[in-house]
Amino acid sequence: MAKYVYDFTEGDRNQKDLLGGKGANLAEMTNLGLPVPPGFTITSEACRRYLAEGSVPEGLDQEVAGHLEALEAQMGRKLGQAGDPLLVSVRSGAKFSMPGMMETVLNIGLNDESVHGLAKQAGGNDRFAWDSYRRLIQMFGKTVLGIDGDLFERALDTLKGRRQDTDLDAGELQGLVETYKGIVREQTGKDFPADPREQMRLAVMAVFDSWNAPRAILYRRQERIPADLGTAVNIMAMVFGNYGNDSGTGVAFTRDPGSGQQGIYGDYLQNAQGEDVVAGIRNTIPLEGLESIDRHSYDELLRIMEVLENHYRDLCDIEFTIERGKLWMLQTRVGKRTAAAAFRIATQLVDQGLITMDEAVTRVTGDQLAQLMFPRFDSGAPKKKIAKGMNASPGAAVGKVVFSSERAVELADQGEDVILVRRETNPDDLSGMIAAKGVLTSRGGKTSHAAVVARGMGKTCVCGAEELEVHTAERRFTAPGGVTVSEGDVVSIDGTTGEIYLGEVPVVDSAVVEYFEGAAEPRDDLVRAVDRLMRHADEARRLGIRANADTPEDAARARRFGGEGIGLCRTEHMFLGERRQLVEDLVLATTDEARQQALDALEPLQKADFIGIFQAMDGAPVTIRLIDPPLHEFLPDIVDLSIKAATDTATDKDRRLLAAVKRLHEQNPMLGLRGVRLGLVIPGLFAMQVRAIAQAAKEVPGAKPEIMIPLVAAVQELEAVREEAVRILAETGVEALVGTMIEVPRAALTAGRIAEAAEFFSFGTNDLTQMAWGFSRDDVESAFFSRYLDLGIFGVSPFESLDEEGVGRLVRIAAEEGRAARPDLHLGICGEHGGDPASIHFCHDVGLDYVSCSPFRIPVARLEAGRAALIDTDSDTR
Ligand code: ADP
Ligand code: MG
Ligand code: MG
Repeated sequence: MAKYVYDFTEGDRNQKDLLGGKGANLAEMTNLGLPVPPGFTITSEACRRYLAEGSVPEGLDQEVAGHLEALEAQMGRKLGQAGDPLLVSVRSGAKFSMPGMMETVLNIGLNDESVHGLAKQAGGNDRFAWDSYRRLIQMFGKTVLGIDGDLFERALDTLKGRRQDTDLDAGELQGLVETYKGIVREQTGKDFPADPREQMRLAVMAVFDSWNAPRAILYRRQERIPADLGTAVNIMAMVFGNYGNDSGTGVAFTRDPGSGQQGIYGDYLQNAQGEDVVAGIRNTIPLEGLESIDRHSYDELLRIMEVLENHYRDLCDIEFTIERGKLWMLQTRVGKRTAAAAFRIATQLVDQGLITMDEAVTRVTGDQLAQLMFPRFDSGAPKKKIAKGMNASPGAAVGKVVFSSERAVELADQGEDVILVRRETNPDDLSGMIAAKGVLTSRGGKTSHAAVVARGMGKTCVCGAEELEVHTAERRFTAPGGVTVSEGDVVSIDGTTGEIYLGEVPVVDSAVVEYFEGAAEPRDDLVRAVDRLMRHADEARRLGIRANADTPEDAARARRFGGEGIGLCRTEHMFLGERRQLVEDLVLATTDEARQQALDALEPLQKADFIGIFQAMDGAPVTIRLIDPPLHEFLPDIVDLSIKAATDTATDKDRRLLAAVKRLHEQNPMLGLRGVRLGLVIPGLFAMQVRAIAQAAKEVPGAKPEIMIPLVAAVQELEAVREEAVRILAETGVEALVGTMIEVPRAALTAGRIAEAAEFFSFGTNDLTQMAWGFSRDDVESAFFSRYLDLGIFGVSPFESLDEEGVGRLVRIAAEEGRAARPDLHLGICGEHGGDPASIHFCHDVGLDYVSCSPFRIPVARLEAGRAALIDTDSDTR
């Protein structure tokens, strides 16, 4: 019989799969002896079964009942008991944090009787009891019963008028409860469920169901969180921050999640319950303010923060509540942080002796490094600052202002850059946040919804710009000094400083890019942190890093960024521009002589190209791929030609070209006359390229060419081409490896044979993916990928991240059988995947020698290759 429920005393932080992040960490804190209200966790396994079967799995109800009884015994109160009720919260909590995406219901157990019992417990504090009760109906109504939350909000607003919620007295709140109950009756046709156990049971199911709420699905897709994990549910005794001014609730970070600076960061709200802090109901005070309100709790909080940092050896974020002077911990986790903070914190923790350099490298990611390479605003450019908010998520974003998520999506779809401006965001704004270049809010702190979600997405965000007045309905906001900005006006927001500018501010390269460019010694502490971690990653990694580069400029950048060679130098562009003329001659040639003439004309041009690249690479290996695409790609467009050939001025050549284009036309050019096939069909083409490479290598001392044959499927193809290449190399006296791409499934499956004729393999995983799945990259991504992602057929496009199960299997087979046939076979990858973090880890695991990616991705690849090696040897730190 499966065990579905774990008491907080039973779990620990390593059980996130089962207990979710929240539950695992509540258990961890409980076992550390920290003040956590008691409770228990229903596993994500129960949720998965519930979602699959459409009903609560057998045995769960009894198990929950048993744990509830134990909780009641421990607390000395029974759930919802009239005279002296125990109240609980029912909280979602999945393996990966999904802030605000799923549901939580507080104050479960209240009804018309127990509300009096709660007042009695609180020493006759009626106001508090009725406030808790109205919160329950409001939250339960919205999340469990599916009632539009605005109905409750509006009733509350009407009652409040210009006052704050804390100004409402007991009588008014009691009246509000009646109004709320009326809303429930009207909207559902039923009374608000008074039975506490029924409340709890319904809430648990609502939390299960919230796993598949549209916003949760969207968030998971954005964050690449698997769709089938399910969420755990935590049930815990309530503690109350809404007793009065001696109580309150807050959130805190052990370090600044924006910059990584050590200190006290957080927000606190007196006389409030959890949700209020992040929802921006009232303005919070900075955490330091707690010191003067409740010194004892403040000191205790700082002490616990230190305990947590030392225990988790990382930045933690914390949710806490103070109930009449007693501090309770309600949540902690290793906190999300900006990319810059991640690099700073990792090195700080090393300097504090909490972690090793090896571990530090595993604490930062290639995606974070990529973010640091984003451009920022040009500090020298003139700009008109209109306000300043909080620097919630770094970066520089410029775009047209929009005031709703719908409009953001609409304009972004039309290719516009937009900045989403809201008073505060809520989970329904997610699609707009994804569509926008940046997010700007006038309320809420660094822990507000906007800030947390934007940081998670790496999206620029300025929040809590209180000088702005946002008039959503009128689609405009005002800033001090009589500035009015309407929908469609352009603003620039700086998520690193919090500044907001009117109009477009030009952007410049990041300091980290300048560092990689070798501009100077690392000056600021962020660049120093990057430098230290990159050096260590380079020492640790086993994979070599090469670049995909076709020009001397790209080759030079690749070198500066730490590339150790070129893994893919395409030769196609060497047939473009004014050289098209020569390709046309080649195609139109009817005699061997004419063809050779065209090839002879191309050879010196290609040779010059290669010289430039060899020089830029300065002795590092350069893998040159012989011409790959079908010839008609170099010829004029068939429509243009048809029109031209039909006119009076048409030349004989035009007509012959048209005939040639028609002759070369293919139904499926991707699967047509290209790559090695072209080399075998057009005599002299590959020979010309090999000769150009050899001649160029001769002129550049130290040049290390490697000749790569594309699209090979059978060893016989390779043998035919190879023989000629080897002969030409011998004639010129140049040494070069001759190898092949593995990009056709048949090549992968016969790799043992192919290795007999190849000194290296380079996996062309774009074509390999295309051919393994049987779909054309150019057509399918827009046609049906989003449907496939919705259906969970793949979690991420197989062109973005290597499909390990299918395409990866082909890579594995080819690597193993190739090496078995030729132990010194050199193995690399040159598809887009060479710069994708997950795929790089795969390449490390399979034992490739190098990955090759675009020059700008090289730092990311270096870091991820280092991480792959370190995670490999120390699986504990993943
Ligand atoms: P989320 O995952 O969206 O942060 P939580 O489950 O953390 O949702 O709950 C939201 C808020 O409710 C938290 O800020 C927390 O402080 C408060 N809360 C949850 N459980 C309790 C409880 N037992 N007592 C008091 N406050 C609670
Ligand atoms: Mg929370
Ligand atoms: Mg290819």
